Amino acid sequence: MRSKLMVGNWKMNGSLAANASLVAELLSGMSAITCRVAVCVPSAYLAQMQVLLSGSPIGYGAQDVSDHASGAYTGEVSASMLQDFAVRYCIVGHSERRLYHAESDVLVAVKAQRALAAGITPIVCVGETQAEREAGQTEAVVKRQLAAVIHANGHCISEIVVAYEPVWAVGTGLTATPEQAQQVHAVLRAQLQAASSHADRVSILYGGSMNAGNAAQLLAQPDVDGGLIGGAALKAPDFLSMLKTASR
Ligand code: PEP
Repeated sequence: MRSKLMVGNWKMNGSLAANASLVAELLSGMSAITCRVAVCVPSAYLAQMQVLLSGSPIGYGAQDVSDHASGAYTGEVSASMLQDFAVRYCIVGHSERRLYHAESDVLVAVKAQRALAAGITPIVCVGETQAEREAGQTEAVVKRQLAAVIHANGHCISEIVVAYEPVWAVGTGLTATPEQAQQVHAVLRAQLQAASSHADRVSILYGGSMNAGNAAQLLAQPDVDGGLIGGAALKAPDFLSMLKTASR
């Protein structure tokens, strides 16, 4: 059985001082927490996380990785650089990157490949827009996005984490109903099972305005293995409350 995995996505928020106090508050509330926990922080703060979180029950990760190994790619951060900071996870294909940086399914698949080759678990985000949902394309869209990652990563696919994040729910306050989430998670699970006999190892997280009020119902779904949490992960009491829910 997969223990729940709860990952905070800090996006482009934080400062050395604010991060230190958020992490201190989280660490002080971890005694009753049995689920797996991580925070994905801006790359500029990975060194700080290495100091604050090494050896703690909270893992840490990055929010993106370059599809290149090294070289003349100004502003990019490679998987081997992330490895230098001992990161455990790296988000790839977040909808904000697909939208604002025009990241394609193939690019996301290569990023997942780079992370895996460096021993970093990619958290592969998939999800449909509002228009795609209304057009009845939800399953086709998420299957297409995941298929690119499966195609590029072959038998390593059981080493990834998937996050189903409906674009219309990310940062909007709108949340998929537990039934909507379960329906898509079951589709993704079946797709992974068809690709790998070890697919049951893969955690499929839900993300999209998950908060302390709606987490219990979402996490109760059989194929919802945890959460990828944006806004609510920046408030220690809210995040800790969700971690408690996921530890039941
Ligand atoms: C996210 O950034 O991955 C996310 C799910 O954000 P929020 O929880 O704020 O919707």
